[in-house]
Amino acid sequence: MAPPNFPQTPTLGDTHSGIPSYLLPKANNAKGLIYDGKTAPDFVPLTRGLAVPQGISKASFLSAVHHLKALLGTENVELNDTEIKNGWYMEHPNTHDMMPLLHTEEFLASAVVYPGSVQDVQLTVKWANKHLIPLHPISIGRNLGYGGAAPRVRGSVTLDLGRRMNKILDINAEDYTCLVEPGVTFYALYEELQRRGLGDKMWIDTPDLGGGSVIGNTLDRGVGYTPYGDHWAMHSGLEVVLPGPEANLVRTGMGGLDGGNTWQVFPYGFGPSSDGIFSQSNFGIVTKMGMALMPNPGGYESFMYTFPRESDLAPLIDIIRPLRISNILENVAQLRHGLQTLSVKGHPRTKFYKGSGPVPENVWRKELQDTATGECAWVYYGMSYGPAHIRKYKLDVIHSEFLRIPGAKKIDPSTLPADEYFWSRDRIASGTPDFEELLWVNWMPNGAHIAFSPVSPIRGPDATKLYELAKKRHDEAGIDLMPAFCVGLREMHLIVEIVFDSEDEGMRARAEKCLRDMIDDAAALGYGEYRTHLALMDQVAGTYNWNDGALMKMNNTLKDALDPNGILAPGRCGIWPARYRNRGWELKGGEKSTEGDGVAPLPCVTKI
Ligand code: ADP
Repeated sequence: MAPPNFPQTPTLGDTHSGIPSYLLPKANNAKGLIYDGKTAPDFVPLTRGLAVPQGISKASFLSAVHHLKALLGTENVELNDTEIKNGWYMEHPNTHDMMPLLHTEEFLASAVVYPGSVQDVQLTVKWANKHLIPLHPISIGRNLGYGGAAPRVRGSVTLDLGRRMNKILDINAEDYTCLVEPGVTFYALYEELQRRGLGDKMWIDTPDLGGGSVIGNTLDRGVGYTPYGDHWAMHSGLEVVLPGPEANLVRTGMGGLDGGNTWQVFPYGFGPSSDGIFSQSNFGIVTKMGMALMPNPGGYESFMYTFPRESDLAPLIDIIRPLRISNILENVAQLRHGLQTLSVKGHPRTKFYKGSGPVPENVWRKELQDTATGECAWVYYGMSYGPAHIRKYKLDVIHSEFLRIPGAKKIDPSTLPADEYFWSRDRIASGTPDFEELLWVNWMPNGAHIAFSPVSPIRGPDATKLYELAKKRHDEAGIDLMPAFCVGLREMHLIVEIVFDSEDEGMRARAEKCLRDMIDDAAALGYGEYRTHLALMDQVAGTYNWNDGALMKMNNTLKDALDPNGILAPGRCGIWPARYRNRGWELKGGEKSTEGDGVAPLPCVTKI
């Protein structure tokens, strides 16, 4: 628990990225637990000084920054040349990854700029083209586990869109849609619906933690846990500043029509659907996005089942598939390993086991005996929606199907105390953001996390293959395996979060090796990741190599056409602009430098 004079977590009243007041006690508690286990200093002096981007001298860079200050106002441009601040989830840095897999100064910004308008974004893009300086856009920069706020290219200038562009531009209570700027978090959107008295009428869909932005999470194809959990599928309409020297502004879908009222209700418009190229890419800077809101379904009910053996995974997944595809199981539900339900209680792993290597099975099983789930290998968290009589039909089907697994148990929610994790899942699946998911970072001191996230069909043999490869690699690396299967409509994401001590160089190296091995093993079996950390993007992109890498060749063509000077987020998702391409920037593991062989002088010839 935080000491009484511990600095309080900023709220939404203090800053756009703050915590809602109703979650303040939880945030302060989580902060206390994190700082209890923290040995890393909050402020770390830069050992390599200012990270000047490749291809420009320090003097020219400083003169360019001076120019940018003149364009946007001195107070809206900050140089990052002395020290970095690490913080924690709610007070995170915007210059680097506070959960670094490699040395913190590898993926480091040289400066941060805070645009206040679309025009400011356009001015910054024109400036970057003029001086050939890489820009890295963030909305909030809390994409933790995937690189946080860090740019892939050392010395990039962070374009922190969220600080000054954080308005909810519209909430339409007839169409159940909203239009937001980059700095609007799930917390802020939820609070605004309550403030307007619309919280009973419409729900948001929130990820496990609500501190990320609606735009950043959606562009990175994050998920939530109501029936609207596929965020990308639920968006409608983008406004984008293109990265070329003219910094053109486009609106996608029905936004291409002047003066219409359909931008947020029909995502496609006429002609090619261009939205996809702005998701998990570096083709544009999104300044507005439309999103669907979910009508209150008129009732809901969470349920939790436990399954005793690890080998129950395959038959259970085969039971889940037809139920999910036919929408009897309605939300992106989670099937979590027992060890994960233990770690989410927020204790360090040493409370349960002091040895090295993964916590042995007999230990975690014994520890689970006294918890709400009891001893088990898997826990399924789900929710049924609608009025009671409609829920009853679905819940009865689910019950008889799940009980086909010998030893399966339904846990009666009325037996669970108010602070049991089940209720956190209940809030999230009914559109109320929460703060409990963060607690498992305390598993390790200086707890950082990074995910292995392959996609597969909802089939038992696929689940088993992925589980077994992850187990083998975790055992080799001496790391605890904490898998969760997040079940979409026809596929599932296996999310394996590796929790590591960010101050322990040896453990970071083991985590990286474990991840790289799993990515290769999965690719050899035909599975690819849906999302990944900055350090792993080249490797993951390289696994999508059908027909001699035709997809990346097309991405390169688009990149060179839209961003001829290669200024926007070079290397993001493995897409390198012509100036960087074939110069050794790709990271596949074991490289001495993240900066390859520098950049080509302009004009560069596009090689495809
Ligand atoms: P969050 O808002 O969830 O914290 P981030 O701001 O960390 O997410 O962004 C997640 C990823 O999406 C980053 O790689 C970032 O470069 C990209 N991104 C975020 N916002 C934008 C935007 N407005 N335009 C283009 N790319 C963006």
